[in-house]
Amino acid sequence: MERIFKNYRSTRSRTIRKIITLLFLSIFFLLSFSFPMISNAAPRLLDTGEELVIVIDPGHGGENEGTNTSAVLEKYRTLVTAQAMYEELSKYDGVKVYMTRTDDVDMSLKERAEFAASVGADFLLSIHYNASEEHAIYGMEIWIPATVPYIDYGYQFADVWLKEMSATGLHNRGVKTRIKNNGDEYYGVIREGKDRGITTVILEHCHLDAAQDAAFCDTEDKEREFGRLDAIAVAKYFGLRSTVLGVDYSGTDLAQAALPDLGILPLTLSTAPETCDLKLTELDEESGDATFVISAADSNELLEYYEYSLDGGETWQGITTWPGYAYNATKNQETATFYLNLPRETDTEVRVRVYNYYDQKTESESVIVHFKYQDELAAAALEWEQEHSGEEEIEQEGSTDAVGNPIVQDSEENDAADGTSISDNTTAGADDSDNSTAPETENADHDQPEQNRNDRLIVLIAIGIGSVATTSIIVFALRKKAQEEEKRTRRK
Ligand SMILES: [Zn+2]
Repeated sequence: MERIFKNYRSTRSRTIRKIITLLFLSIFFLLSFSFPMISNAAPRLLDTGEELVIVIDPGHGGENEGTNTSAVLEKYRTLVTAQAMYEELSKYDGVKVYMTRTDDVDMSLKERAEFAASVGADFLLSIHYNASEEHAIYGMEIWIPATVPYIDYGYQFADVWLKEMSATGLHNRGVKTRIKNNGDEYYGVIREGKDRGITTVILEHCHLDAAQDAAFCDTEDKEREFGRLDAIAVAKYFGLRSTVLGVDYSGTDLAQAALPDLGILPLTLSTAPETCDLKLTELDEESGDATFVISAADSNELLEYYEYSLDGGETWQGITTWPGYAYNATKNQETATFYLNLPRETDTEVRVRVYNYYDQKTESESVIVHFKYQDELAAAALEWEQEHSGEEEIEQEGSTDAVGNPIVQDSEENDAADGTSISDNTTAGADDSDNSTAPETENADHDQPEQNRNDRLIVLIAIGIGSVATTSIIVFALRKKAQEEEKRTRRK
């Protein structure tokens, strides 16, 4: 009886087992087809043990003001964001949260890492705001360790943080590493953290000196919102739950690929884009509309921005995101097209430069944009001048200046020359090259009338003297003849 019962039980349990197995298989089958991405998800590589400890580090403080490129110093902003992050993260279950500083005090990078180590931190997050040398670069980015295994932990967190922050609409500059020439971590807080076994990341929320980012960080509320998003990213990365908030991130999927697999080099090994060529592909002679195409290549890194100059590279007009750029893209788009409306009256020297993922730049050659309209204007001006200097043209027949253009005489100068064709060199000036031709022969001609006058005077005087002499001789002769007649008559 018992055996029969046993057999019955075992038959029944076998059937149940079969049904359960089938059920599991069909669920797995359904899931794997409905959500193919799930198979790409990875577990968190960082093991935090029993208790999770997070340390938030507001960057700078005290004498160390951080970037001062906007009205509010970076050291104050980082404190606002860090405090908001602390408050938000404290709402989650099973996490201990600390801050390296809560006041405006000086603190070395070593001291920050030492503090994190002293409280048993699993993760150290250094809060920052950014600024660039060019004051043109915009967007958010995250710096993670380049050292294994911290690079993998950092990358998995970075992927979550960048997704969370993308909701703000900020340009995504992605995840980066930087090493010193000796191979050690470049950034002090990351290096000091790594030396103590703590994964440390630097969160650069946005650029305080970029026009594109200004609207993202112009109020304290927005700085607090960054802190809230930072906290959510931590909660998602560590799969936390919050009874207070009623959220459960325990099922969050993390990225599998580590940074080197994406082909992203540390900044230290980065080189500028290999090529950057600019072409004018269309020009509307009437409206001034011009179409340009940039062809650029960078075999190691992503192309991220481009910008143009209208004065051959003296000044730049502000950067634009390279088409097709995404921080996790694997390939660059080769060309970017942009449009300008240019003045038709003057030539414009257009030049471009492209920036890669690490802001290394390569500049193109200049393209000189010239409109036919300018030639039409010049031709019309020449025609007008010719019409208004016709008389002088005839007088100056055949004479040209150094480059073969007909010399156009100033009519006032010719008026001053007493109505003759001989120009007056005293009014022309020494440095007026058009009038400095053959002055010596002209000066010789100038003396001629004076001499003629003198000659005529001499002739006249000679004639005068001659006449007087002749008259005197005639008179003298006549008087002598008359005296002789008188003597003869008296004798008679
Ligand atoms: Zn900073």
